[in-house]
Amino acid sequence: TQQAAALRFEESARRIAENARYIAGGVNSNFRLGMVPGPLVFERGEGAYLIDADGNRIIDYYCGMGATVLGHTPKPVIEAAQRQAEKGILFAGQMPIEYEAARLICERVPSAERLRFGSSGSEVAQAAMRLVRAATGKRIIVKFEGHYHGWFDNILWSTAPGLNAAGPEDAPTPAIGSRGQDPAAGDGLSILGWNDLAALEARLARGDVAAVMMEPAMCNQGAIAPAPGYLEGALAACRRHGALLIFDEVITGFRLGRGGAQERFGVTPDLTIMAKAIANGFPVAAVAGRADLLDLFADGVLHGGTFNAQPIAMAALVATQTMLTPEHYERSSAHGQRLQDGIRAILAEEGIKAQVVGFPLMFHVAFGLDAPARNYRDVARADKVAYSRFAHALLKRGVRALERGAWFVSSEHDAAVIDRTLEAVRGAAREVAGQ
Ligand code: PMP
Repeated sequence: TQQAAALRFEESARRIAENARYIAGGVNSNFRLGMVPGPLVFERGEGAYLIDADGNRIIDYYCGMGATVLGHTPKPVIEAAQRQAEKGILFAGQMPIEYEAARLICERVPSAERLRFGSSGSEVAQAAMRLVRAATGKRIIVKFEGHYHGWFDNILWSTAPGLNAAGPEDAPTPAIGSRGQDPAAGDGLSILGWNDLAALEARLARGDVAAVMMEPAMCNQGAIAPAPGYLEGALAACRRHGALLIFDEVITGFRLGRGGAQERFGVTPDLTIMAKAIANGFPVAAVAGRADLLDLFADGVLHGGTFNAQPIAMAALVATQTMLTPEHYERSSAHGQRLQDGIRAILAEEGIKAQVVGFPLMFHVAFGLDAPARNYRDVARADKVAYSRFAHALLKRGVRALERGAWFVSSEHDAAVIDRTLEAVRGAAREVAGQ
């Protein structure tokens, strides 16, 4: 209805302009710039909702860029963090809670025999790269076009957004990710197209690859499942050519299931990195995997970090993992699936050509594609301008979903929230279909 499409964001705009006096660009991560009509300022969260500076109550499908798998305000997680905070903030020593945290992750994630905690996905990606180079004595890391493993110079290559894929699909031309990035820092990488086993096999056969690093389901661009046999084939090819396999489960971890994509698809890599949902938005990341590889950290491979295993974040991790029961996945997945199916049906009814694919707790909507995407080049063909108009139309109706088409679902997105969302999807679809 007209009324439902009327949310305004003037106070956010005013405060973003004010922020820019002290905060570069008004935001603290470049990835927060992408929204139409502009970045928002939030006062607080409440389950599936965010309340912004204009007083709008918005259903949130950003979910902390995938982190808040239990919603914005899970009471047991907040209380655990509060109790831990009262005991002290940072000890630069060990605490009983970090044993419990490590045990829970190692019991749940198939590849995790041992681990080290850090604070962000970007830094544990660096730790994994250092481990595989130490273990193999080789240098090259195979990275795939469109996959994202953090913002550091030695890995921010051929990574969307802003990537204009060039060169042949099975041997892309490496694309630098930022002004100011050291161009020589890409020398340790070899960029390939994902989901193409023949290209990977051919590259590995050169014998200089330390590891293959991938999102086991490609979720930074699209929500693309590996082709049948691809993960198994990649692991076997790594074995044949003396390379290790790293899964970046920063998005897929605790979202494609409690044991991540590796459990869902039944392929166990040598190393795994996790972050985001591991502690429902508290700053925890982990590099985990084979004990002999992790033990290199006690044998000359350096890994540091003042905030590693931060006590409040550890308490939040334990409380989060305690809430991530099989029933959580069953219930949330049913809601996520209903939402995904509902969006697909409504877009079809309103005459909008779209692909709606992915997993119940993380899926992707791409306008203008005739078939589901298999890799970055496919998903890059989607009509981003039309989708951006749709995302804006949704936001005006109180639903916030990523401009790049990703939807993250939490346990707070219950039947009533899904109903309201689908109503907004109907209105937004009608608005953009009429344009
Ligand atoms: N890997 C993947 C797959 C990610 O999605 C991200 C963050 N979007 C990262 C690594 C980097 O994590 P962080 O932002 O915590 O540094």
